[in-house]
Amino acid sequence: MDLSYIINELAEDREQYFNAIAPPIMQSSNFAFKTVDEMRKAFADEYSTYLYSRGRNPTVDILRTKLAALDGAEDCLVFNNGAAATFAAVLANVKSGDHIVCVNKPYTWTQKLCNDILPRFNVSTTYIDGTKIENFERAILPNTSLIYLESPNSWEYQLQDLKAVAALAQSENIVTIIDNSYCTPIYQKPIEMGIDLAMQTATKYISGHSDTLGGVLSGKKEMIERIFNSEYMNIGSGIQPFNAWLLIRGLRTLPARLDRITASTQKVVAYLKQHPKVESVIFPFDESFPQYTLAKQQMKGACGLLTFIIKADRMQQIETFCESLQHFFMAVSWGGHESLIIPKCSGINPAEFDASNREHRMLRLYVGLEDADYLINDMEQAFKKV
Ligand SMILES: *Cc1c(COP(=O)(O)O)cnc(C)c1O
Repeated sequence: MDLSYIINELAEDREQYFNAIAPPIMQSSNFAFKTVDEMRKAFADEYSTYLYSRGRNPTVDILRTKLAALDGAEDCLVFNNGAAATFAAVLANVKSGDHIVCVNKPYTWTQKLCNDILPRFNVSTTYIDGTKIENFERAILPNTSLIYLESPNSWEYQLQDLKAVAALAQSENIVTIIDNSYCTPIYQKPIEMGIDLAMQTATKYISGHSDTLGGVLSGKKEMIERIFNSEYMNIGSGIQPFNAWLLIRGLRTLPARLDRITASTQKVVAYLKQHPKVESVIFPFDESFPQYTLAKQQMKGACGLLTFIIKADRMQQIETFCESLQHFFMAVSWGGHESLIIPKCSGINPAEFDASNREHRMLRLYVGLEDADYLINDMEQAFKKV
């Protein structure tokens, strides 16, 4: 299906709403029936009917249809945020006594789910370095029911060979889930590579404007319907119509924004690589990246998030750099219009800062929609103050 068609036309039955270009926000909790029989059918199969907006809602459905098509998936669910999508996807695929193989350093709340919540239900997790397929082979146990991937992850952008992991998991009858937030389905299509469930936070690139949260889970209709009828309905963390409408609006410009961010990111990476106060830059589409060949093979693009290691022997120098920036916000998240920075040392007790540890000197940048030169000039003046 054509990307432009998905974004501009798919699922938008404009004759139903006065040929308005923008869809209506169907801000209704419930939907009425004319006959008892219609109501009976709705009770029996809420996945196929409008009954109550904790289940389906027409504005949310426009977004669902578009996002599933973007992922090349049979169906998807949209949650109120990405963490909720991960929670539902994982919960739906484990039972007491099961085991999960998860890549090292996934998103914080994925770690908390595996470390703090699942053990209470007798589900254990083994973390592995996912850059080598042998590590998956070694970690799989007879009770492994799920492999959890994040490729690339944030900060160091480690990748997994998605086709190889999918083939291994299929041969062992294990469900695979990927957090595809870094790439979005524009730059990476895990479902086409054989991964069962593709999750992404819509808070980041799909929203694009730092004004709503959302989470996407795509996969085969059978799996999505099963999750809809249990975790999705029971946890009740589906997206609200207004937030879905914002995401439909964000989608309209997603490819254009990614194009722009891709071009600016290349300039920013080139600038940082030549800077005498920068030790190194970590970015999947840079030739120095350890998995560069794999990145080029399985990703159509890379943009926005990158990490650099600043030369510093005191934490104060890193703080000075961050606090001297005038056009980068020091804030979490990414994917919006605004450029961002997070120093790793913001999560480190100052007494434990160790300048010889390169991780302590990492800074994660998100390149937004500003002019690349505007951002580079800002960094240049901040480096001078270090
Ligand atoms: C932000 C993020 C999430 C969680 O998404 P929310 O919408 O904030 O719940 C999950 N994975 C990655 C990689 C993220 O960056």
